[in-house]
Amino acid sequence: MTLIDTHCHLDFDVFNCDRTDVLFRAQQAGLIRIVNPGVDLDNSLAILHLCDSHTEVFAAVGIHPTSALTWTQETRSTLRELAQHPKVVAIGEIGLDFYHQHAPKDVQKRIFREQLDLAGELALPVIMHSRQAEIETFEICALWATKRSPNSSPPGVFHSYAGDEITAQKAITSGFYIGITGPITYKNAAWLQRLVTLLPTSSLVIETDSPFLTPHPHRGDRNEPAFVRLVAEKIASLKNQTLEHISEITTANAKQLFQWR
Ligand SMILES: [Zn+2]
Repeated sequence: MTLIDTHCHLDFDVFNCDRTDVLFRAQQAGLIRIVNPGVDLDNSLAILHLCDSHTEVFAAVGIHPTSALTWTQETRSTLRELAQHPKVVAIGEIGLDFYHQHAPKDVQKRIFREQLDLAGELALPVIMHSRQAEIETFEICALWATKRSPNSSPPGVFHSYAGDEITAQKAITSGFYIGITGPITYKNAAWLQRLVTLLPTSSLVIETDSPFLTPHPHRGDRNEPAFVRLVAEKIASLKNQTLEHISEITTANAKQLFQWR
C-alpha cells in the first residue's frame, strides 16, 4: 500500500530537531512522496534544499496570501527561477485568505492572479489556499483554468477544502482536485464527512498540512506526514471502501496532478 502526502510544511522550524525521524515514520506508514508547498520566497528556497537531501520530498514554490505584502516587482521572476528546480511540481500555496486578512483583499487577488499567470506560463498546476473566500478563489481559478492549454496537466488542487458542495462539484468539473485533511476525522465535522461521501474518489487527494490540522486521535499534538494514513482510513470508512482502495486511487490522483509518471 502506498500513500502520498500532497501538502506538508516539513521545512517549518518545528521539525528542526527530528525531521529525519519524521521522514522515517512516514516511510514506515507507506508514504512514497511528500509535497512541501512554499509560503514566501525564503522558505520556497529552503524547501528546494530539503528536496536536494531527501528523495521523497517534492516542492511547490509560491507566496501565501498571508504573505501577499512581501510581493515586489522582482518576486515573479524569482519564483520563475526557483521553479526551474527539477523537483518543483506546482506553484503554491497561493490563493485568498479573508480570515486573517494580513493584506487587503484587492492586493491578495492581484498577487494570486500574478501567480496563476506564472503557473500557466510554466505549465504547472497550482496548490490553492482559501479561507473564508472559497467562492472568490474558485471563480478566479475557474476563469484561469479555461485559458490553459487542454493538453496541459490538471489545473490544481483546492488544499484542505472547506467550501460547499456546489463549489466543490464545479471545481471538479473544471478539472481540479479536492484536498482532504485531518479535520475529516473530527467528531464535529459532519458536514465535511457528508461532503466526502458525495464527491467522487477520483477527484480526491489526501494531505496532512503538517504541522497543523492533526487528525484524531493525535489532535492537540504536532501533525506529521505519517498521519495522512488516518485521513485515508476515514475516507475509506465513510465510503465503505478498503484502505487499500482509497490509497491506490488517491496515490494515482496525486501522480496525475503532479505529472509523475
Ligand atoms: Zn499549507
